[in-house]
Amino acid sequence: MKKLFVISAVALAVLTGCAGERGMSADAQAAQQQLQGQVLVSPNDNRAYKTLVLPNKLEVMLVSDPTAEKSAAALSVGVGLLQDPMSQQGMAHYLEHMLFLGTERYPDTKGYSEFMTANGGAQNAYTWLDITNYMFKVNNGAYDEALDRFSDFFKAPKLYPEYTDKEKIAVNAEWSMRREMDFFGQYNLSRSMMGSHPANRFLIGNLETLGDKEDSKLHPETVAFYQKYYSANIMKVALLSNLPLREMEQLAVKHFSSIENKNIEKPGVTAELDFSRLGGKRIHYVPNQDVKQLRLDFTIANNTERFAAKPNEFISYLLGSEMPGTPAEQLKAMGLISKLNVSATPDLYGNYGSLSIDVELTDAGMQAREGIVATIMQYIELVKRQGVDSKYFSEIQTSLNNQFRFLEKGDEFGYVSNLADAMQKVPARNAVNAPFYYQRFDAAAIQDVLAQLTPERLRVWYISKQEPHNSSLHFYDGKYKIADISAEEQQSWQQSPQLALTLPAVNRLLPENFAVKAPQAQQKPELVLQQDGISAWLYPSQQFADQPRGVLEIFFNTKAPQQDIKAKVLLALWHDLYNLQQSALATEADIAGMQLRLTAGSGMALTVAGFTDKQPQLLQQALAGLTLNSDVQSFAQAKDRYVRGLQNQAKQFPFYQAFNAYNSLVRNGNYETEQLVATANALTADELQAFINTTLAQNQLRIFAFGNYDKAAVEQVVATVNRALPAQRSELPYSRTAYWQPAPGDTLVLQKDIDVADVALVDVHVHPEPSYAQLARATVLKSHFSNVAFDKLRTEEQLAYAVGGTAMQLEDYVGFAMYIQTPVKGVADMQARFDLFKQQYAKELDALTEEAFAQLKASTLVTLKEPPKNLQDEVGPLITDWYREKFSFDSKLQLIAAVEQVSLADVKAFYHETMLNAKAPRISVQMRGTKFRDQPFADLPGQTKVTDIAAFHQQMKKQ
Ligand SMILES: [Zn+2]
Repeated sequence: MKKLFVISAVALAVLTGCAGERGMSADAQAAQQQLQGQVLVSPNDNRAYKTLVLPNKLEVMLVSDPTAEKSAAALSVGVGLLQDPMSQQGMAHYLEHMLFLGTERYPDTKGYSEFMTANGGAQNAYTWLDITNYMFKVNNGAYDEALDRFSDFFKAPKLYPEYTDKEKIAVNAEWSMRREMDFFGQYNLSRSMMGSHPANRFLIGNLETLGDKEDSKLHPETVAFYQKYYSANIMKVALLSNLPLREMEQLAVKHFSSIENKNIEKPGVTAELDFSRLGGKRIHYVPNQDVKQLRLDFTIANNTERFAAKPNEFISYLLGSEMPGTPAEQLKAMGLISKLNVSATPDLYGNYGSLSIDVELTDAGMQAREGIVATIMQYIELVKRQGVDSKYFSEIQTSLNNQFRFLEKGDEFGYVSNLADAMQKVPARNAVNAPFYYQRFDAAAIQDVLAQLTPERLRVWYISKQEPHNSSLHFYDGKYKIADISAEEQQSWQQSPQLALTLPAVNRLLPENFAVKAPQAQQKPELVLQQDGISAWLYPSQQFADQPRGVLEIFFNTKAPQQDIKAKVLLALWHDLYNLQQSALATEADIAGMQLRLTAGSGMALTVAGFTDKQPQLLQQALAGLTLNSDVQSFAQAKDRYVRGLQNQAKQFPFYQAFNAYNSLVRNGNYETEQLVATANALTADELQAFINTTLAQNQLRIFAFGNYDKAAVEQVVATVNRALPAQRSELPYSRTAYWQPAPGDTLVLQKDIDVADVALVDVHVHPEPSYAQLARATVLKSHFSNVAFDKLRTEEQLAYAVGGTAMQLEDYVGFAMYIQTPVKGVADMQARFDLFKQQYAKELDALTEEAFAQLKASTLVTLKEPPKNLQDEVGPLITDWYREKFSFDSKLQLIAAVEQVSLADVKAFYHETMLNAKAPRISVQMRGTKFRDQPFADLPGQTKVTDIAAFHQQMKKQ
């Protein structure tokens, strides 16, 4: 299902992560804040804000939240990949890596990450075309020192020449991981068509672009880049902590005012694109994934500064609508497309950006691509003529206002990162509200962008495995061919549409009533209703009772997918067709501040969430859709999507594939891809219909209501659900996924050749005793282990970009895992390095002092005990318990109690009983990439090799 108003750049995501009513309306409050020059925040946000400019021209935003358990900071520099010297492409990114490796005051290369681990912290950074952004969060007590360490990055980094080669390899590994991602290949090709425009360059950096050349040496150039661009006057800082603003201001002055101000002009790009060479093209692109896509990609001028007039959002809203008569609705109804999304990224190329219409095609649609493009172009003409209407403005404004009025807090880390990013793009006082602030209906601004949606600025992408091609990308895996779009075809876009296209009708689901139920104090979720074979639990929010929102989980539980591969596939097909058929409803709901979601697992779960006012209407329609109306054609198309989806999993990052394979192995009811494909191919539409009818008639039906509901509301939900069900129903016992039963001496090994270059390993040693005590020990130890692994295997040896350790729960058991994705070692060699590391780490653990351990444990507890920041945080642990039938709803409390008891001797014992215990049950997942085909897998002593997961599940002992 799709989401409108996708605000942040897609690219960033890929590259890298209360008081209620106060008697003043949101508008009045905004007006008052505006007058006072304050940061414009949600009426639901009771944190204190302040902005200031330090004497060195560095602009700072302070956010004081007395309830915060963690403090956070982000610093963005207004320089990025567009400023790389062409002789060292990727350098801004490489420099970002180097800053973490020590400063004058804190010269140790691993000192920063060790400090963060010891203090419950997290740290990261990203580099993009026009920005480099660094961020961390840490326990409140460690904030001052964390800021001291962090701010020294920007005053006196060591930039050790001896780490040049090492960190270059880390950057290379990062590129290697993304080389097979189609997004990056297409983005690269898109930029390569831009001639002499600065966007036409390689972004991430690798061993080919970074390094010493005749007249360009990497290290001195990096130092020069830092000296030139890292100037206080183009930096923005966002700080969040539990301290009062006054004290935060002192911290800001103390740590950031001594960053040097070089008074530079903020770098930017002004070069003009030559549209006569860029536009009017069709790009045939052969991707790695088996997809059938069509994209209308318009290059528009960067209009970020018009955030208050929102022309891109207005246009995307109309073009992406699924209301009756729109292209999305009609083309879907004709079986030509399965998805149509519109998004705008106005700064995708610096001073230019893109507005793009992305379409997923069916096979029938593949045969009708020219017609689909013409339909969309004709619809754009209709929008130009009749669509610039203030009624749509009112609808979008209402939607955004509602979101903003009840805006929830999020994680501190992400929050400061977003603020420091936004402060580079919009005035600081708009850094919070810019995505939601729709000040006025500005027809001229909308017309201005519409006027850019022309054939001259259009590139049409045909993306599929079958495309003709005559060229290959250099830095990415992708083949392509570029052709002119004929004048004749362009002519057809001007003709009157063959389909009767209409502009969207009004949204019927926008909430009108934000009343909240009277607060009800409750210790835990209670079973409040058992009637007509339906059980319903209720838990009104204890932390956010003033939010007029809630989540309804309606779970049709059945054991069929555990037992039968057919049921597993049918469930997936049902899920696919439901999403397709209900996406108009889901989109309408989304604009109204509600979400509709279906999840296939041990049965089918329907989730309705968001503002509660119109949930009854939404629920009724969502339930009615469960029975589907699938004909033979749409069923065949769903199978095609399902099969390609399965096969495309083989193109994912190897370490994702490894974790997925691990999860399939230890849980019953999973199958090999070929078995699923064969099953899907043999199924018929009638079988799906029969399966849906059976699942709706025979199940265990459970409902979980969390948020703005009372018992009467739950009774209504139950009645609505009951009405939507078949008259004849029978109740089945509740069924849960069964897990592998670990036994001493068992070693399961899964070895697979995969379709991507790198190698990935997941190596898990399970503790033989199922208990919270062991889970607690693993929980305390994992960040320390992970940190040492990162330092040794990445920073020092440069074996990988992604490496670490983690705890893996197998129901009541816990495993301790080590994982890596490496572009430099084969499977057996990497396993040998793992085995050696396990011994090396034992020595590090032996040397861990009581004091350092106490700090580690205290930090773990701070993290575990953090109060929820929003509804999602509050319900998360409860709903997990609910699905697992842990009706005391105290798993988190039990874990906290167990962590309180953990001693240094305990974690040492745990480590010896898992990682160093030859008898500990073990699971090893080995993914061998194409680059290492000629090197062996790692056979382990006493191993059971699993070659067929389904056959293994047949005979495995289950918990
Ligand atoms: Zn990086």
